[in-house]
Amino acid sequence: MKIAVLPGDGIGPEIVAQALKVLDVLKRDGIAIEIEQAPIGGAGYDAAGDPLPEATLSLAREADAVLLGAVGGPQYDRLERPLRPEQGLLRIRKALNLFANLRPALLYPEIATASTLKPEVVAGLDLMIVRELTGDVYFGQPRGIEVRNGERVGYNTMIYSESEIRRVARVAFSIALKRSKKLCSVDKANVLECSELWRQVVIDVSKDYPEVELSHMYVDNAAMQLIRNPRQFDVIVTGNIFGDILSDEASMLSGSIGMLPSASLDEHNKGLYEPIHGSAPDIAGRDLANPLATILSLAMMFKYTFDDAATAERIENAVKTVIAQGYRTADIWTPGCTRVSCNQMGDAVVAAM
Ligand code: NAD
Repeated sequence: MKIAVLPGDGIGPEIVAQALKVLDVLKRDGIAIEIEQAPIGGAGYDAAGDPLPEATLSLAREADAVLLGAVGGPQYDRLERPLRPEQGLLRIRKALNLFANLRPALLYPEIATASTLKPEVVAGLDLMIVRELTGDVYFGQPRGIEVRNGERVGYNTMIYSESEIRRVARVAFSIALKRSKKLCSVDKANVLECSELWRQVVIDVSKDYPEVELSHMYVDNAAMQLIRNPRQFDVIVTGNIFGDILSDEASMLSGSIGMLPSASLDEHNKGLYEPIHGSAPDIAGRDLANPLATILSLAMMFKYTFDDAATAERIENAVKTVIAQGYRTADIWTPGCTRVSCNQMGDAVVAAM
């Protein structure tokens, strides 16, 4: 198993260091893992004048999976857009053709009070959003700002091909098969032709997955239902822009951004795994960050790329154990719990393993 490790900027190196400790345990226990590190984002710009240096991209291409920390920082904000750290991330997703973004939102009962919603609404929450990542209005052509009839107009194109919808629908159906066999497809088919096609293709794909119960929901209703009764959902599949918004909404249901992992997969389940949060420059270098989202991203890597559910579960169980033992980094700390640093949290997970 060859893993490219791209720590990135800000808290990236600190949180990735904790995931590396977990990988060390797995290696010690006999799993053949090869790790190589490379810079991305601001670190890529500093090292090679490019947020996605050529050497980093070739390493990522050769690897079976990529683990990424986070990118970005105020010192890079004044660079021209193509040189900014975030471009490194967008480019690597595109270059590796990572079209399916998996964002679980899971709430450990012990930290239900960290959510802004009532504990009885969110306790036990465990849902997965599958967001299409390389198409839709974010990439559609034509796009631009131009003058028409004496005033400026801005425009973008919402576009999906059948094959793009089909492949992400297949990913979502296979995940639903492994969970509770319920899939909700979110669109805006009452208004948008693009969504009308989305719905037709998803229904077509569903014929290959008769065990999965498929439902449809308009995106405005889905936004409301996620707050009203989030536990009605198990797996949600949706397009890029709807998924962007709904997955951020869902992440807040679980309270802390420091707990949530993500995966972005290609056609062959090769994946890029990263926490959903950014580089947190406000706490970088102070050993304060929560490394659990990164460690849980590693668990997803074993589940989805290496098809090793046992190792994934081992990592997830270790995280559950440290939460149950009362260890908390500052972002999830509540009175009565043991406050730990980023490093100490990593050590606690290793001990639990
Ligand atoms: P952010 O996610 O970095 O931080 C938001 C808040 O959450 C901050 O208060 C931060 O301290 C806290 N936080 C985030 N992760 C945490 C963790 N693991 N443990 C404890 N607290 C944590 O978002 P932002 O402040 O809007 O952006 C900061 C930089 O990160 C920007 O340059 C932005 O472009 C970049 N960014 C990168 C990614 C990515 O790499 N995928 C995603 C979002 C933002």
